[in-house]
Amino acid sequence: MSSYEGKCHCGQTEWNAKLEKEQQGHILCHCDTCKELSGSTFTLNQIIPKSALKITKGEDKLGKYTYYGESGKGVHCYFCPNCTSHVYHHQEVMGPDTIVLRTALLKKGIKDFKPAAEIFGKARLPWEKEVAATFETLPPS
Ligand SMILES: [Zn+2]
Ligand SMILES: [Zn+2]
Repeated sequence: MSSYEGKCHCGQTEWNAKLEKEQQGHILCHCDTCKELSGSTFTLNQIIPKSALKITKGEDKLGKYTYYGESGKGVHCYFCPNCTSHVYHHQEVMGPDTIVLRTALLKKGIKDFKPAAEIFGKARLPWEKEVAATFETLPPS
């Protein structure tokens, strides 16, 4: 288990994530929502217990945006209200204690982590190369 510091673009929000060895990797998500929310072709994520994330600065000011996924259940996105960096997402379908952390915002993790898997590969843009084991949507649970 190692500790990773994260911060948003403007510095108003900071956090700390404790990640097990097998969580120290990027899960690339190619879904259309990630494209729209990030303005890029995919996002870098990891699925962790909510208790592994501690917001150390700006927690009381975090913005929240909710949309409804394919399951019909809510997905809550938590972001810095000043610069709009997304810290983490909570998908109700995963239960109350699991969150999706944006690994691209971990100062050390962004460079050190390798691609661990790709999800929603069906929405990967045709010119993007495969860099890790790809699932059409989500891995079978
Ligand atoms: Zn910010
Ligand atoms: Zn996505």
